[in-house]
Amino acid sequence: MTTSRVYLSVGSNIGDRRQYLKQAITQLKQNAAIEIVRVSSIYETQPVGGVKQDDFLNIAVALQTSLAPLELLDYLHQIEQILHRKRLIHWGPRTIDLDILYFDDLVSQDKTLTLPHPEIKNRLFVLIPMKEITTDDPKILHQIETMISETSDHNMVQKYNSGGESN
Ligand code: AMP
Repeated sequence: MTTSRVYLSVGSNIGDRRQYLKQAITQLKQNAAIEIVRVSSIYETQPVGGVKQDDFLNIAVALQTSLAPLELLDYLHQIEQILHRKRLIHWGPRTIDLDILYFDDLVSQDKTLTLPHPEIKNRLFVLIPMKEITTDDPKILHQIETMISETSDHNMVQKYNSGGESN
């Protein structure tokens, strides 16, 4: 079966952020059409943009999938809903955010699914985890390294030590 190489960015800035990232990975693994290939270290990152909010935890994920792009997007929305449902009871908005960064070499300007994700170059919290998991993918790694050297984003992105939050 032909599968596609996909890169995701996953972030959380409310509640037990590490647990939300873990739950998102668990949900991805539950789909038989998705095989997780690599998961980056967890990075703690300053929010980009003017809105005052707590720091995020971010990871990048490499996966192989037999799903079509919109099928994958739909599944990511389902994961967001499953994790958001909990959040609606216990927390405010934005427990988990899943974005498709690259889907093979696809290029799309469609608002429903823009590929590659248009904000990659503006987000060090995407670029730094991606650099870690693309060492086996020279073409993407080269693009990521170029964007790291050119980005105007200089917000804090540092490896996260788990202290305080549960496993
Ligand atoms: P946000 O609120 O920032 O998570 O944006 C979610 C919306 O962005 C979704 O309804 C998607 O249809 C749309 N979208 C466009 N391109 C992408 C992408 N590459 N990955 C994830 N969502 C995307």
